[in-house]
Amino acid sequence: MKIITILSGKGGTGKTTLSSNLSVLLSKNKKIVVADCDSDAPNLGLALGIEEKDFTGIQKVQTNEKAIFDEDKCDGCKKCFKICNFGAIKWDDKKNRPIFDSLLCEGCGTCQLVCPKKAISLVKVNNGKIGFAKTNYGFNLYSGQLNIGSTGSGKIVSLIKEKAEKFAAKENIELMLVDSAAGVGCPVIASIQGSDFIVAVTEPTPSALYDLKRALRTVEHFRIPYGIIINKWDLNKGFSKKIESFAQRLKIPILGKISYDIKFVESLVNMKPVVEINLKYKEIFNKIIERINK
Ligand code: SF4
Ligand code: SF4
Repeated sequence: MKIITILSGKGGTGKTTLSSNLSVLLSKNKKIVVADCDSDAPNLGLALGIEEKDFTGIQKVQTNEKAIFDEDKCDGCKKCFKICNFGAIKWDDKKNRPIFDSLLCEGCGTCQLVCPKKAISLVKVNNGKIGFAKTNYGFNLYSGQLNIGSTGSGKIVSLIKEKAEKFAAKENIELMLVDSAAGVGCPVIASIQGSDFIVAVTEPTPSALYDLKRALRTVEHFRIPYGIIINKWDLNKGFSKKIESFAQRLKIPILGKISYDIKFVESLVNMKPVVEINLKYKEIFNKIIERINK
């Protein structure tokens, strides 16, 4: 199975819009599965007409641990309180005991290491969920999200991909499309690992180009071939030229340039990818697919 990942570096460049349109067109000629790995803002489903209630096979996931303590074993030495770097341990002067704040605890385990009474342990907590939904276009979308304030977005991305890959192996799926998280952190690394091709989406602004370059350094580390799409290129034609020169210099293929068009906003409002309602964009996105397949 071939894996194509859509990545952007900076958020808000139109990555999800591109993922929804490419997935709909790719599904016309291939058996595909889609993994929405933007677990902090998983809204590819909405762009494809899927609401939260449509997801099934929901599983709780545990991506990190939290410290708890046994009051009877504790002798009030304060070592844990002094060592926690995350402000997750307050001190109860009346009881002379620590108070653990599970929202702030990062599960680093330092307090457990320093506790002379072995009163602290780390427990796994349910802090997110993953599931899948069948889209109106015939393919399955796997998605997941962490509870607010939870850490472990890299792990949840790996779990979403794992689920989608298992399904793909069972159903002889030919292609998996991954909508990566934004940024360059753990969830992005987890998103691009194992990919055969990366579609890097950018827009003509200095911040988008800066973030794109950072994201591409990660891609290059994994030696995955990639190409660039300039979204909303006509909003700043001068800067789009700069992106094109940068790509030319480094021999990076430009897979396509997409104009700013209110139709994309309308398509998001109507939860229907623009290639389903507009022939011009169907052709533009089909050309992008041709270039990806070259
Ligand atoms: S596990 Fe780490 S973050 Fe959590 S309370 Fe202990 S020292 Fe603080
Ligand atoms: S380090 Fe252990 S014994 Fe000391 S205050 Fe914390 S929990 Fe109690």
